[in-house]
Amino acid sequence: MRIFDPHIHMTSRTTDDYEAMYAAGVRAVVEPAFWLGQPRTSVASFLDYFDTLLGWEPFRAAQYGIAHHCTIALNPKEANDPRCLPVLDELPRYLVKDQVVAVGEIGYDSMTPAEDTALAAQLQLAADHGLPALVHTPHRDKLAGLHRTLDVVRESALPTERVLLDHLNETTVAAAREAGCWLGFSVYPDTKMDEQRMVAVLKEFGPQRVLVNSAADWGRSDPLKTRKVGDAMLAAGFTEDEVDLVLWRNPVAFYSLSGRLDLDVAATAPTHEGNSILRGAPAHPVPAGR
Ligand SMILES: [Zn+2]
Repeated sequence: MRIFDPHIHMTSRTTDDYEAMYAAGVRAVVEPAFWLGQPRTSVASFLDYFDTLLGWEPFRAAQYGIAHHCTIALNPKEANDPRCLPVLDELPRYLVKDQVVAVGEIGYDSMTPAEDTALAAQLQLAADHGLPALVHTPHRDKLAGLHRTLDVVRESALPTERVLLDHLNETTVAAAREAGCWLGFSVYPDTKMDEQRMVAVLKEFGPQRVLVNSAADWGRSDPLKTRKVGDAMLAAGFTEDEVDLVLWRNPVAFYSLSGRLDLDVAATAPTHEGNSILRGAPAHPVPAGR
């Protein structure tokens, strides 16, 4: 089973996770820029983080045989902090970089006017840079949040077929699908979707334009949830081709809209700014099944 996790925050994960992900079939990830838990107090903190996503983390992933790309944005939560807003002016020079395959995560957290402004501005940036957008939908008031998100997307210059709406569930999937967006589902241990609910959604709506991610971060989460959904799909009677569509071809198709997706891990430089990181890490990818 080949797996592309289209939304995972590897900067908060360990090398054990990279090894386990490779063994489970993960060969590619996209890491969206997001909130770090500890609030940022200056634009400089964003820029160092973006540089981590563009240089250090792809280098680290490559040691484990995994291709790494990222999405860059001001996340919805920090769009409410005036100290963070000037990062919007810095985004254009990051959005032209080869490793950046979308603008994201953007969207709503608490649905404030400041979030409205940041979302609209960043959808415009996506349109200006020929990039698709990864749009986070809020965890509270999900359906109202989804409709408000769709209103802003429809008013933007970015067509819905270049938008991935993430953190969907049973209450929001139909409207997102109707709008013509790509459909993202985050599968978590306790909250959001689980494997069985995901299988039920796939049975009802089919696998077209559906992406499944672990959204693993520093909270309780599981970077192997993608594989577990693939196994649950097979157990429920889906074909290997349908599993491949959801776990590989759909994320490849969505992020290929950027024109920048390069899944050749070998092309990654053997050192990052002079640091070889080979501190006991395998010099070659861990063989599957180890
Ligand atoms: Zn996320």
